[in-house]
Amino acid sequence: MPSFFDTSIEFLKGVGPQKAALIGKELGLFTYGDIIQHYPFRYEDRTQFHPIAEVNGDMPFVQIKGRIRRIETIGEMRKKRLVAHFADESGTIELIWFKGIPWVSKKLKLGVDYVIFGKPSAFGKKVNMAHPEVEVLTTQNDQASFLQPVYHTSEKMKARYLDSKALSKIIRQVMLLAENYIQESLPEKLTQQFALIDKKFALWHIHFPGNNELLKKAQHRLKFEELFYIQLKLLKSKTNRIDKFRGQVFKDSSLLTEFYRDHLPFELTGAQKRVIREIYQDMKSGKQMNRLLQGDVGSGKTIVAFICMLLVVGAGAQAAMMAPTEILAGQHYDGLKEHADKLNLGIARLTGSSKTKERRAIHAGLLDGSIHIIVGTHALLEDIVQFKNLGLAVIDEQHRFGVAQRARLWAKNKNFYPHVLVMTATPIPRTLAMTLYGDLDVSMIDELPAGRKAIKTLHQYDSGRLRLFGFMKEQIALGRQIYVVYPLIEESDKLDLKDLMDGFESVIRAFPDQHVSIVHGKMKPQDKDFEMQRFVRHETHIMVATTVIEVGVNVPNASVMVIENAERFGLAQLHQLRGRVGRGAEQSYCILMTDYKMSKDSRKRIDTMVRTNNGFEIADVDLQLRGPGDISGTQQSGVLDLLIADLSKDSQILQAARNVASDILEDDPNLEKPEHRNILRHIQSLKQTAVNWGRIS
Ligand code: ADP
Ligand code: MG
Repeated sequence: MPSFFDTSIEFLKGVGPQKAALIGKELGLFTYGDIIQHYPFRYEDRTQFHPIAEVNGDMPFVQIKGRIRRIETIGEMRKKRLVAHFADESGTIELIWFKGIPWVSKKLKLGVDYVIFGKPSAFGKKVNMAHPEVEVLTTQNDQASFLQPVYHTSEKMKARYLDSKALSKIIRQVMLLAENYIQESLPEKLTQQFALIDKKFALWHIHFPGNNELLKKAQHRLKFEELFYIQLKLLKSKTNRIDKFRGQVFKDSSLLTEFYRDHLPFELTGAQKRVIREIYQDMKSGKQMNRLLQGDVGSGKTIVAFICMLLVVGAGAQAAMMAPTEILAGQHYDGLKEHADKLNLGIARLTGSSKTKERRAIHAGLLDGSIHIIVGTHALLEDIVQFKNLGLAVIDEQHRFGVAQRARLWAKNKNFYPHVLVMTATPIPRTLAMTLYGDLDVSMIDELPAGRKAIKTLHQYDSGRLRLFGFMKEQIALGRQIYVVYPLIEESDKLDLKDLMDGFESVIRAFPDQHVSIVHGKMKPQDKDFEMQRFVRHETHIMVATTVIEVGVNVPNASVMVIENAERFGLAQLHQLRGRVGRGAEQSYCILMTDYKMSKDSRKRIDTMVRTNNGFEIADVDLQLRGPGDISGTQQSGVLDLLIADLSKDSQILQAARNVASDILEDDPNLEKPEHRNILRHIQSLKQTAVNWGRIS
C-alpha cells in the first residue's frame, strides 16, 4: 500500500505537474517524504540587528536597520555600479549593486526605514554589502525573532519562482498535512537515554525553528537518527556476513614457528604482535575474515602481512598480495621474496608488464599450487588467474581499489571465500573509518619500531633558500640522500613542469659536485625506473621529483625531504611525502618551503605538519579543513551522502549511535522485541533506493 509519504508533490497548492517535474529533475525530490527530508542547509539569523559600526568583513550574513542617506551611480559601462550609503545611529555602510541597476534604483527611497540583510565584505577600511536583501521596516520584521531557513534550489528553479522561500512554503504545506502520519522512529528507551526530542517536533523545528535552542535540539535528534540507522545497517551486514560465510580454518603454525626461530629480522613491536594475534584469532575461527589493518607509514605492515601469509601457506593454501602500482608491487615482491626464499616458498610477481611466457608459467604455478605467494597489481583480478586454493588476499593501499574489485578477489576460491586483509597507510579519522569500513573489523598498528627517531619538520620561507642549500650540503657530507619534491597538480600542467625544471637547474647549480636525479610523470616508465634505481643504489644524492614518489618507495638512507611550494599540497599528501624519510636509523628532516603569502588554510596545514607526526591527528585536521567529501577514497562511496549529519563535526553523536546500535543488535539480533518495534517499522519504511541504505555494499 502506498503510504502518505509516497504521495507526489504535484498535487500541492502552487506546485502542479510542471513545477513538480522541475523539482524532481533539479533536486531529486518527488514525494512528500522527499520534500520533508529536504532540510535547510543554513539559517539566516534574523534574531538580531547589528549596529552598523560593529559590522565587519568576517561576519556571516547579518541584519541591520536604518535609512539610505544618499544614492549614486559610479563608474562606466561594465564597471558601473549603484551605491547606496546606508546609516543608523552608529555608522554607515555601502550597499552595492552591479546588476539590475535601473530597477533597484527606482525601488530605493531616501528617508524610509529599511531592514537590510546581506554578507558584509571589507575593502580596506570600508565595509560594504553587495546585492543585499532590502525590506521596508514593518512591525513584523522589526521583531527580529526568527531564524529563516535557506534551502538548496537551482538557477532553473529560481527562474520559475521556485526559490528558497517558495520551497519553504511547499514544505510547510506538507508538514501540516503530515501531522498525523509522522511516527517516532527511535525506541523510547533511546530518546529518553539521550534526551532526544520526538521526531515530529524535530522535523517541524528543523524547517521552522522556533528559536536557536529548538533548532539545536532538532538537529541533534535528526543527526542521531541518521547515524544510528547507518551504523545499525553496517553492523547488521557485518554479523550477517560472519554468520553466513565460512572461512577456511588455519591454525597450523609450524612454518611460523620456524620463521620466528630462525629468520625474524627484528623484534616485532607490541602493536605488530597484537595485530597478528587478532588476525590469527580470525583465521582459526572458521569464519571468513574481513579486516582493515591501519598503520601509519613505516609502522611495519608488510611483515605483519607476511606472517599472516605463513599461517595460510603452512596449512597448504596460497596467499595473494595486491598493490595499486607496479612500483609498489615490485617493492613488496622484493621484500617478501627475501623472507620467502629463506623458507623455500614459491613466490612470484604478476603485473601488467609481465611477459606472456612468464604469465603462463605463473598461471600454471598458481593452479598446481607450486606458487605459494603471489604479489601483483590489478592483473591478479583477471579471470584467467585461478588458484589451487587461495586462503588469504592482502590488499595494500586499499582506497584505490573499489569494493567491487574486492569482491572479485573473493570469487577466486569456489569453496571458501578467502580471508581478506585490507591494509592502509592513509590514516582515516575514526569517524570516517566507522562509516566507510563499519562492516570490517579494524586492527591498528599504533606504534613505530623502536629506535626510530621522530622526523623533525621545519618550515622555511623561500627567502631562506641559501640556508636550505647549506643544510642540504651538510647532510650530503654526512652521507645522506635528499628528496626535493615539487607539486604537480595536473600532470599536464606546463607551469608546474617549468617549476620543476627550474628547480632542478637551480639544484644542479647549487650542487655542482653531486649527482642529481630527476623523476616526473611525463617521463617514460623505464626512464623513471632507471632514475629511481640510481637513487636507490646511492649513485645520486639528490632526487628532484614530482609527487610520483609519493607512495611506497623505500630508501632508508634518504633522510631529508624538501617539499617546495608546500602550501599547495594537501595535508594527507604532505604526510605521505614526509613518510618517505625516517626509514633508517639516522635523524630525518622534512622541510616545508613556502611563499610568504599563504591562505589561512595553508598556514593551518603547515602548522599542523610542524606540530605533529601523528597521522591520525593530521587526518582529523584534514577532515576539519576539507570536509569528508574531499578525503581521498570517499567520493564514490554513497555513505557520505548524509542528509544532516556531518562526519567532521558529529563524531560524538556517531560514537554514541554506533555503541547503542551495537548493544541493540547484541541484545536482539533480529529486532523482534516489542521495544524495538519502532526500529523495524522504520527500516521497512525506508525505500531500497534510499542513498544511505542502498549504496553501502
Ligand atoms: P609500512 O607500514 O609503511 O608498509 P613497512 O612494512 O614498509 O611499513 O616497514 C617499514 C620499515 O620498517 C621496513 O624497512 C621494515 O623492514 C621495518 N620494520 C618493520 N617492522 C619492524 C620492527 N618491528 N623493528 C624494526 N624494523 C621494522
Ligand atoms: Mg607499505
